[in-house]
Order: sequence, then structure tokens, then C-alpha cells
Amino acid sequence: MAKSCTHLDHIQVQGVTPSANGCEECLKAGDTWVHLRLCLTCGHVGCCDSSKNKHATEHFHTTNHPLIQSFEPGEDWVWCYIDELLIEPAE
Ligand SMILES: [Zn+2]
Ligand SMILES: [Zn+2]
Ligand SMILES: [Zn+2]
Repeated sequence: MAKSCTHLDHIQVQGVTPSANGCEECLKAGDTWVHLRLCLTCGHVGCCDSSKNKHATEHFHTTNHPLIQSFEPGEDWVWCYIDELLIEPAE
């Protein structure tokens, strides 16, 4: 029934190092964002789809890195752009 994500091997086993403490592109442009998303393939930090610039989604379109994780405190769900699937962290 439930779809599953076949892209989990894109996640760096050691974990990624966040590229910045905010959306990389917005910081460069002096712009603002609503929420942050972390690319689990390369550590790119981008802004969410509620932000006007949607840099996390743009990062997916330019790099094809399918998995992002919420970069918000207390949130650790993962989103796969290709499967359009929300992956809840296993306890
Ligand atoms: Zn997937
Ligand atoms: Zn941004
Ligand atoms: Zn990436």
C-alpha cells in the first residue's frame, strides 16, 4: 500500500555538514526565508516552499539531490522530491 523511497542510499552515512546557518542563496542576496531545509546528499541549506525563493526545491531541480530534511529545531522528518514522500524518522 504505502509507497517507499528508493533513494535512501543518497543519504551520507556519516551525516552531512550543513553548508550554512541559513539559506545559502538568501544569505548571499540579503533575503529572508520562512523555514530551512537541509539537503541530505551534500549539506546544502535552502529555504522551504513557504518562502518566496524556494531555494531547497530549486536545489533539487539543479542538482537532482532527492532528499531533504527539515533544518528546524525539533523537526527531523525527511522529504523525497522524486517519490513525493514524507519519511518520518524511526524511533
Ligand atoms: Zn525517494
Ligand atoms: Zn533561500
Ligand atoms: Zn544537495
